[in-house]
Amino acid sequence: MNAPTTPAAAPNFLRTQIERDLEQGLGERRFAGQPGDAALHAQAPLDEARIRTRFPPEPNGYLHIGHAKSICLNFGLARDYGGACHLRFDDTNPEKEELEYVDAIKEMVQWLGWRWEFGTQVNLYEASAYFDFMYRAAESLVEAGLAYVDEQSAEQMRANRGDFTTPGTNSPFRDRSPAENLARLREMRDGKHPDGAMVLRAKIDMASPNINLRDPALYRIKHAEHHATGNRWCIYPMYTFAHPIEDALERITHSICTLEFEDQRPFYDWLLDHLARLGLLARPLPRQFEFGRLNLSYVVTSKRKLRQLVEEGHVAGWDDPRMPTLIGMRRRGYTPESIRAMVDGTGTTKSNAWIDYGVLEGCLRADLEGRAPRAMAVLEPLKLEITNYAEVFGSDSRFDACSAPAHPQRPELGDRAFSFGPVLWIERDDFAEVPPKGYHRLYPGNKVRLKAGHVIECTGCTKNEAGEVVAVQARVLPDTKSGTPGADAIKVKGVITWVAAHEAVAAEIRLFDRLFADPQPDAGGKDFLAALNPSSLRVVQGYVEPSLATAAAASHWQFERHGYFVADRVDSRPGHLVFNRTTTLKDSWGK
Ligand code: ATP
Ligand code: MG
Repeated sequence: MNAPTTPAAAPNFLRTQIERDLEQGLGERRFAGQPGDAALHAQAPLDEARIRTRFPPEPNGYLHIGHAKSICLNFGLARDYGGACHLRFDDTNPEKEELEYVDAIKEMVQWLGWRWEFGTQVNLYEASAYFDFMYRAAESLVEAGLAYVDEQSAEQMRANRGDFTTPGTNSPFRDRSPAENLARLREMRDGKHPDGAMVLRAKIDMASPNINLRDPALYRIKHAEHHATGNRWCIYPMYTFAHPIEDALERITHSICTLEFEDQRPFYDWLLDHLARLGLLARPLPRQFEFGRLNLSYVVTSKRKLRQLVEEGHVAGWDDPRMPTLIGMRRRGYTPESIRAMVDGTGTTKSNAWIDYGVLEGCLRADLEGRAPRAMAVLEPLKLEITNYAEVFGSDSRFDACSAPAHPQRPELGDRAFSFGPVLWIERDDFAEVPPKGYHRLYPGNKVRLKAGHVIECTGCTKNEAGEVVAVQARVLPDTKSGTPGADAIKVKGVITWVAAHEAVAAEIRLFDRLFADPQPDAGGKDFLAALNPSSLRVVQGYVEPSLATAAAASHWQFERHGYFVADRVDSRPGHLVFNRTTTLKDSWGK
């Protein structure tokens, strides 16, 4: 159902935690087959999922490689321990969310290989569906004297919160009676007050050393339309209030989040414990665990910054192949297998580590090496004329048939056919009029082998008025075709790639370099735009061998000597081929 298990997973403290929890038992966990309050789950059968995790994106942008870490972690743990992982849209904030992101997020989670179904359950949820419950929870806290409406201004509240060294000061509204607070809360809900006039706060401890426990806000007034609930609400829950409740309603066992939420955990537990005591939420309650977020060198993983790159036109869109968004990476040719292998291989710890981009590229090459068929492509074409073609092949000859395996280790993929002719395209830098030291490719008087073809000997070149080489001449040596008897009689030191002009297919080829020149473009509050690499995209017009003429969009290839390429899923079609270089054959990062 889910992606197959990848072996050789690196240390992951969450596995140890879950194994211990399963051994000791997670308590009597009932699940009604859908999210709900204590009453709903009380009647339900025992949960067949041994654990429940969730991936809770806010639908306010496209997913990036950092999210892939969280996705693979949560779905992977559920898969490995017989559990379920929920995809939950955390859409409690009315202003920033858009529906286009919801579909894109679902598509990317599936692309990565994960499914939110568990048996017949479809664990796809929207947090906004819980607004009624959240409001009910808020009223219950007020009635229990655990929350109050504060009418201080935002500045007063900030000033009275104190700081790390100074305790906070109680609000003058803190000691109102539950009845007064309830009346105010209902006024808030009924739209009697403008935005910012008052907030609902938990009543905990303004002197707590943990600032998050100094009466955190639970609800604020926001006269805004919500994509799912329209104008039904003009008050919206704060994230810190909403998130624990969402987890509890869905019977999540392990709520896994990034380290910056560590200081929120006491409030998470405070809130859920009180709501369970009040009879609103079922026990056992979810528990929160924090892990170090993924940081990748040369990459920014902040939706806000990625949006800025798109909106200011530094890239062509969210799916620009240079973007670390999952749609960008897919378009670039990254495979879900390579992303999953990187996440598993780098492990999960309690510190925010930087992962070298080369690790991800290594996983990518390891995956593509085995699956990408080979092909020849000339990226910077120079014409090569075979001056004795008719002499060797006969004046009435057509083209000389050649072939090569589609993949050297996978004979089942068969052979690809192409042909040799009187005019070929070769790489411009495979010819040198005056060879530098150690150069074994074409120069006058030198012999090379055309890959999967014949041996040729260079005889000279033609130049234009500007002195640039526009064509190279060579003679073909008879009886030297690869794979024929005696072909190796003549020894050469260089092998070059080529395509014959009569059958070469023109293609646009997009070559990418890293988007940022700085390994930590936004570390320490740096201006990440200043680190943009001005030459991160180079487009060349090249030629590819005829087997690629009908290359399906999104199919992967290894262009011999040049790297791994994918037919661009947006722009490429038969008759107008466009290839993206996914990565080079060897690691050239930082060299
Ligand atoms: P951003 O800062 O890019 O806006 P976010 O955390 O606000 O990211 P959400 O949509 O709230 O975006 O993220 C969904 C989940 O993905 C969260 O649980 C979050 O912790 C996790 N996540 C986001 N970035 C990373 C990262 N770099 N490494 C690991 N997990 C991440
Ligand atoms: Mg967030």
